[in-house]
Amino acid sequence: MNKIITRAEAKAQGLKRYYTGKKCKRGHLSERRTQQADCIACRDILDKQYKIDKADKIKKYRIDNVEKIKIGKKKYRHRHAEKIKEYQKNNRAQFNLHRSNCELRERNLNKNWNDQMLRYYEESTQLTKETGIKHHVDHIVPINGENVSGLHVPWNLQVIPAFNNISKGNKLLETIIIYDK
Ligand SMILES: [Zn+2]
Repeated sequence: MNKIITRAEAKAQGLKRYYTGKKCKRGHLSERRTQQADCIACRDILDKQYKIDKADKIKKYRIDNVEKIKIGKKKYRHRHAEKIKEYQKNNRAQFNLHRSNCELRERNLNKNWNDQMLRYYEESTQLTKETGIKHHVDHIVPINGENVSGLHVPWNLQVIPAFNNISKGNKLLETIIIYDK
């Protein structure tokens, strides 16, 4: 357990933290920072929240400013063309990875997958209602296949009657064999 010490004593001893043995206003029994006199558990919570808020803001900014960011990147690449060339030469694998990440992120930002995917789910509900046969949204390449793993993206979705799913395993196996050759 922490030794109980007043803030003044902690200051006098040059300690960064002190412990009063009393709960903070949020009920933490936690050390406090000597300089700010604030609860460290509270501080952690605020830090975490701040990081989440900041990430959300950045995400929103990127979505709202796709064109502006594109132009900025272009300008940067132009200004530092020589440096970038040199870096690419020396860090080929790293650069390729970075480029893939950028492309994937851009694709994520430019396309509203949610809207596209929602349509499949709406269609499935509609068909079930109209035909009286249960339909569901199926992943063309299964998410948890034994040998493959598909993605939850619009182009891997299809609406099929629920019972159709049973015969799917064989079809998929054929596809894999074809690709294998
Ligand atoms: Zn606290």
